[in-house]
Amino acid sequence: MTDPVARASRLTIDLGALTRNWDFFAQHADGAECGAVIKANGYGLGQDAVARALQNAGCKTFFVAHLFEGVKARAILGPEATIYVLHGIMSDEAETFLASHLRPVLNDVDQVRLWQAEGLGQPCALHLDSGMNRLGLSEDDLDRLEGDVADLNLALIMSHLACASDPQHPKNGMQRQAFVQMAARLPPAPLSLAASAGTLLDGDYCFDLVRPGIGLYGGGPFDQDAVPLEPVVTLEAPILQVRSVGPGDTIGYGASWQADRRRTIATVALGYADGFLRAGSNRGFAILAGAVCPIVGRVSMDLITLDVTGAGRAAQVGAYVQFLGRAAPLDAQAQALDTIPYEILTRLGDRFERIYLEP
Ligand SMILES: *Cc1c(COP(=O)(O)O)cnc(C)c1O
Repeated sequence: MTDPVARASRLTIDLGALTRNWDFFAQHADGAECGAVIKANGYGLGQDAVARALQNAGCKTFFVAHLFEGVKARAILGPEATIYVLHGIMSDEAETFLASHLRPVLNDVDQVRLWQAEGLGQPCALHLDSGMNRLGLSEDDLDRLEGDVADLNLALIMSHLACASDPQHPKNGMQRQAFVQMAARLPPAPLSLAASAGTLLDGDYCFDLVRPGIGLYGGGPFDQDAVPLEPVVTLEAPILQVRSVGPGDTIGYGASWQADRRRTIATVALGYADGFLRAGSNRGFAILAGAVCPIVGRVSMDLITLDVTGAGRAAQVGAYVQFLGRAAPLDAQAQALDTIPYEILTRLGDRFERIYLEP
């Protein structure tokens, strides 16, 4: 019998590349501590493996979005790690925060009052809104709180940049200035403003702690400029069938692609049910034997059709084509699919054979 796994699509996650990317940010952090954002299941790569590898590389401070992600992270990371929960705290959650020694990122006045009442003096972060208008305390909130936070065990004051992916954007400097001015109204505490892009901006955005996410996982944080990061994820799918089509033949649902001349088409075992965006229909690509093979026709639930004419004899049943990896860069695939690397990674499903390469 054939090993069923031998026909599966493969997701290979290179934890050595992950830790080298973390080192890259640590070296570019201008002396600040380098944390790591591991929300959304470690950007789709698997929170447990990612968290453990980063901790072994020397990372001490971790950020998640949801409380449940923090509880899971604590179980993996042990008692020493510092874990912040970006979504803040709801009225019935203090007990869970305390039991798992998680630090809430307090986003509004009610959350500050709640932690003052129920946080038992444990450390927390304050999120200031410096211009993104998404989460965090406003100037008006600070008016209400000023002089009233002395009892808060303030371990971090943070904010988030809206436009750091564009280094020239004037909003970056405006937010930095607003952040510094607002923080000055609070008792002194370590400051954090930069995610991946902010860490690499010219000028001083690093403060005391940086919070890279996407860059650790190999995604370029800038709209234009490439950053020398190592690819962490390799996504490959096996060819199930190869066929030849002639002029006028159409491919797939909706007959959305039509051959202009004789072409070789490979059907591979990957689809939107695996998290490969359906928006990749007639736009995305894969690499086979060094040849760029465009997706032709619609991405269906379990299958993608590729024009492998350029790959010659390499187009064989059982051969693996690469959708993400060294040959098929994440940033290029994201651009082809008209999205960002974040969305590609966080959509990756659980139907793959997942292979973790240890550092
Ligand atoms: C997600 C997130 C980050 C990480 O951002 P990247 O662009 O992935 O580096 C940092 N800080 C906050 C508040 C976030 O929500």
